[in-house]
Amino acid sequence: MSFSSQVKQELVRVHPEKHCCMLSEISALTQTCASLRLAGGGRVRLTYETENAALAKRIFLLLKKRMEITPTLEFKRHKRLGGRRVSVLTVAEGDTRRLLVALRMMQEEESGAVFRGVPRAAMSRRCCRGAFVRAAFLGAGAVSEPEGGYRLEFVSSGSKAETLVKILEKSGIGASIAKRRGSDVVYIRRGDDVVSCLALMGAHKALMDMENTRIRREGRNQANRARNCDEANLKKQLGAGEKQKDRIVRYSLAHSLGALPKELQEIGRLRMLHPEASLEELGQMTTPPLGKSGVNHRLRRLMALIGTEERKEEQTKNVEAGAGADGHHAHESDAD
Ligand SMILES: [Zn+2]
Repeated sequence: MSFSSQVKQELVRVHPEKHCCMLSEISALTQTCASLRLAGGGRVRLTYETENAALAKRIFLLLKKRMEITPTLEFKRHKRLGGRRVSVLTVAEGDTRRLLVALRMMQEEESGAVFRGVPRAAMSRRCCRGAFVRAAFLGAGAVSEPEGGYRLEFVSSGSKAETLVKILEKSGIGASIAKRRGSDVVYIRRGDDVVSCLALMGAHKALMDMENTRIRREGRNQANRARNCDEANLKKQLGAGEKQKDRIVRYSLAHSLGALPKELQEIGRLRMLHPEASLEELGQMTTPPLGKSGVNHRLRRLMALIGTEERKEEQTKNVEAGAGADGHHAHESDAD
């Protein structure tokens, strides 16, 4: 079963208890699952359609409990949906008008209905925002598999999408709108926001699943980082050996290693022959064998000594360069 279906299965078992929250849910379900059928002479009928039988039952019970409306229920096979069974709930004309006014989708004096607005509490109360978002998710939501990154979305349109974004933002959840095949999709992309949204809707089991996956993945990332770090250290070590070799070769060409103490000659020659060797490996090649710190100590002494010679050479070069410039300057003065 997909993670989306799991979340929906969990949410369909969460029932709003307060009157304010029930109205909020009806509002979201009406926005996502209902359409208005005009029957001439300004008569309108509200029809809910869903493939999800559990959701149809939920809408039926909410309308009955909160609005004392008993819609008619019928089933039809939808060609567009590959012959799957769709539950159709129809609200009678008088009830439709009353319902739309309660949902603030229509004003008392208006003849035609307009899809705008939500019950005030759906925006202002946290309990009702949770109920609204939960119902919107049940009606038109989807969430990516926890292993595949974070994306939770709602198919919507126009001002309904904007309203949903506002409700999410009021709950501290960042959401954006994208166009897809003629619909507006409200989507949440940040991991923290997806987790907050699951919490707001009351999908606590799904939230735990997602967090556990996240922890597992972080653990894997950490292991990867540690391995990359080891590799980087190894590269650094190899680079250091190469550099030492170059400096020792240059030194031995200019001064010969023969003038150095025996133990430094030995370590110098070994490093020239084995630039890739680790300190432990070099230690096994010396006579007698040396530990890591012994090798390190000798190499440092050797490199310090070479360093002193390099600085001397550098100074000599600078002095020569300085003298050259002065000479040139003097020559120019002569020409004047
Ligand atoms: Zn409420």
